This record gives sequence, structure tokens and C-alpha cells, in this order.
Amino acid sequence: MSQDTDTIKVLIVGSGPAGYTAAIYASRAGLSPVMYTGIQPGGQLTITNDVENYPGYPEGVMGPQMMEDFRKQAERFGTDVRYGVVTSVDFSQRPYVVEVDESKTIKAETVIISTGASAKWLGIESETRLNGKGVSACAVCDGFFFRGKDVAIVGGGDTACEEASYLANICNKVYMLVRRDELRASQIMQKRVMNNAKIEILWNHETEEILGEEEVSGVRVKNNQTGEERVLDVAAFFVAIGHQPNTGIFSGQIDMDQNGYIQTLPGSTKTNVPGVFACGDAQDHEYRQAVTAAGTGCMAALDAERYISALE
Ligand SMILES: Cc1cc2nc3c(=O)[nH]c(=O)nc-3n(C[C@H](O)[C@H](O)[C@H](O)COP(=O)(O)OP(=O)(O)OC[C@H]3O[C@@H](n4cnc5c(N)ncnc54)[C@H](O)[C@@H]3O)c2cc1C
Repeated sequence: MSQDTDTIKVLIVGSGPAGYTAAIYASRAGLSPVMYTGIQPGGQLTITNDVENYPGYPEGVMGPQMMEDFRKQAERFGTDVRYGVVTSVDFSQRPYVVEVDESKTIKAETVIISTGASAKWLGIESETRLNGKGVSACAVCDGFFFRGKDVAIVGGGDTACEEASYLANICNKVYMLVRRDELRASQIMQKRVMNNAKIEILWNHETEEILGEEEVSGVRVKNNQTGEERVLDVAAFFVAIGHQPNTGIFSGQIDMDQNGYIQTLPGSTKTNVPGVFACGDAQDHEYRQAVTAAGTGCMAALDAERYISALE
């Protein structure tokens, strides 16, 4: 295993909106940050088409283009962007020891974790084929493209209820597909969807196939009690069955909640380990937007800068 001899001041793990924003701030503060991109350089937005809700792009922007802009801006100020995956960390010794690609170790005074999260999917073929063509895991991101239309959403938890309510404000009708005969969501969220005339809950229903060639044209669903099938005439299919934060490598090294989201001190990006900061979707199960990820990326760089200044 090779080893870098120099200690990096700010190591950024992950190259989504949170990581790149942290990089822009840290490099402009003269901290010479090093970023490891992970297996998805640019993060989640590289798998989407139009982004219309990020300020500064009045005509909207393609996700991959936006992340290319982020990268260029970070590199312009001197961020060292490296292609590689962090495979383990040791936060028990200072400086912190980080292993990359299971082949190299580096040392860092501070670590900014911006490894994001991944949406959970049903795992059926038509869902993959029509992803980005009417299939989406983010109602807040993509609901607007289907305003005035009929849509379906699958899920029975708080997020699914929240997203169904959000869609009901802009779409004509929302079919909510619930696998069981009850919702897992809190009472208040249950009431909200049940009292919304634009939301029809289909209890005990599962998705058999999402229909359409170039874009979603419907969904074939099945009642798992009676076996009866029907086709819903919808223009979009939203999956709201949860997210998985990409934080496995930090397990046992840092405090997380029971779902694996890194815990930060409210109002900051500080974790329970001094000098280790977390931003973006890896610590946010609530908002999960590019602009909020970028906002906390900025906070993480400022927190790291203050931490380093206090050491010197
Ligand atoms: C299809 C889709 C469409 C979306 N549309 C919008 C939209 O229109 N507007 C909007 O605001 N939001 C949208 N979102 C949500 C938005 O993409 C996320 O909120 C945002 O990308 C989160 O940023 P992040 O920096 O926290 O993490 P991510 O973008 O998830 O990036 C995580 C980064 O961490 C890296 N990484 C992970 N593990 C490691 C490791 N071990 N070592 C090194 N690197 C690692 C990955 O390679 C990746 O670069 C969309 C999401 C999806 C999936």
C-alpha cells in the first residue's frame, strides 16, 4: 500500500453539489483541498436531465452540465480533484488516516464527508428503462414537468405522503400505490393524504410494469389480495420508498442515526469527531436538494476553515 507523505489540510469525500461547494470555499480560503470523486463523479445530478430549480440558471440546465460547471469552478481556485473511492477511514488517530481504492493511504487534518445518498428503487426492468423519462425518485425535482397531468406514486411512509401531497398541488390526480392495507406514515401525514380529494390511495396494490416506450404512458398494477390487475393512465411514476445514505465506510467511526445518516450538531456541519464535517444528502434526510446540499457544503468548508485556524 502506498502512502502520501504530506498531510492534506481539507480532504473532501464526494463530488456532488455539497462536495464541490465545499471545494470552492475551501480553495478560495487557501486551504488547498483535495477531493476524491467516488464512482459517480458529479453525483446524483449526472443521472438527470433538466434541472430547473437551481438558482442562477433561468433557462434551466442539464444535470451533467451543471456538475461540469461546479467542477470547473472548484478547479479554477486550485482544488485537486482526484478520481478514486475512499474505501476506509480511521478517525481514532490524528491526523486522520484515509484509505483510497484499497491501495493508498493519505493523512488529513480535516475531512468533509459529502458522499450523498441513493434512492431506493423497486428493481423492475421498466423502472430502469424509463428512468428520467417519467420515472423519478424526486417529486420536488420532477413534479413540475407533469403539472395538470395524472401521476402515480409508490410508497407508504412519511416521505411518500409528503411527496403525494406536493404532487397533488400541481397535478390533476395522484394515485398512491400502497403495498399493505395501512400507511407507515405518522397520523398527521396519513390524515393529510386521506383528506386530499386529488389523492386516491390504492391499498394492497403493487406495481407490475411501467408502460411506455420513449416516455411513461401508464402503469399496470395488481391487487395483491384479489390478484386483479388494472392499468392506470398516468404520465409519470414516482418512487418514494426511501433513500440509502452512502455512509457505510464511516460506520463505527462516527455517530449516525438508525438509518445511516451522519449526525451533525444542529445549525452546523460538525460531527461528534472534531475536524470531521458532514454535508449534503449524507446527513440530510429531510430536504435532499442540490441547493441545500450546496448550502451545507459551504457551511462545512467554513467550519473546517475555523477549525484549522483554531489549531494554528
Ligand atoms: C434523478 C434525480 C433528479 C434530481 N433532480 C434534482 C433537481 O432537479 N433539483 C435538485 O435540487 N435536486 C435534484 N435531485 C437531488 C440532488 O441530486 C441531490 O439532493 C444532490 O445531488 C445531493 O448532493 P450531495 O453532494 O449531497 O450528494 P450526491 O450528489 O449524491 O453526490 C455524492 C458524491 O459522493 C461520492 N461518493 C460516495 N461514496 C464515496 C466514497 N466512498 N468515496 C468517494 N466518493 C464517494 C459519489 O461518487 C458522488 O460524487 C435529483 C436527484 C435525482 C436522483
